[in-house]
Amino acid sequence: MSELEILHNQIQTCTLCKLHAGRTNAVPGEGPAHADIMFIGEGPGFHEDKQGRPFVGAAGRFLEELLESIGFKREQVFITNVVKCRPPANRDPETDEIEACRGYLDQQIELIQPKMVVTLGRFSMARYFTNAKISQIHGKPKKMDGVIYYPMYHPAAALHQPSLRRTVQEDMGRIPQLLADIDRLVEEEPPENVEQLSLF
Ligand code: URA
Repeated sequence: MSELEILHNQIQTCTLCKLHAGRTNAVPGEGPAHADIMFIGEGPGFHEDKQGRPFVGAAGRFLEELLESIGFKREQVFITNVVKCRPPANRDPETDEIEACRGYLDQQIELIQPKMVVTLGRFSMARYFTNAKISQIHGKPKKMDGVIYYPMYHPAAALHQPSLRRTVQEDMGRIPQLLADIDRLVEEEPPENVEQLSLF
């Protein structure tokens, strides 16, 4: 069994936070063990909890459509969430729940070693872009330790607010070029010297 499979088995039986009590299935995430791109959403919803798979509902269908628009299939990217168990009634994940799950996400990134981490929505963005507003930083990459962190709106936000649809499509559309240019992107300065979040 690979280290990633061992980790995912641990997640499936995790009891570190209160969300475990209400789950049908934990949702560790899925995709190639060494995917170039990792997408991080918020947390499992109703369908994800039932199936134990990430992004299988309406937001997932839109994510697949967006991936297709840049020539990717969902099987080619790794998809996971900030919290691996469904918050009741799809409420926002709470700080203690995000903290309890933090180590799992860190280990996934360490094992998969993606070239690009795409955050979907505010909760995954907050892990890599402190005190940032998604309306200001979406679509602006930041390179740290050789990895591109790229904040996007959550696909569900675009489903609820049609005016965001185009923005999400455009932000997704920049991903292939960013990956192609990764060696030319400038590394982010250490946080104490940084005034801007963007590289460009
Ligand atoms: N929304 C998320 O953030 N994650 C999922 O897995 C499904 C919907």
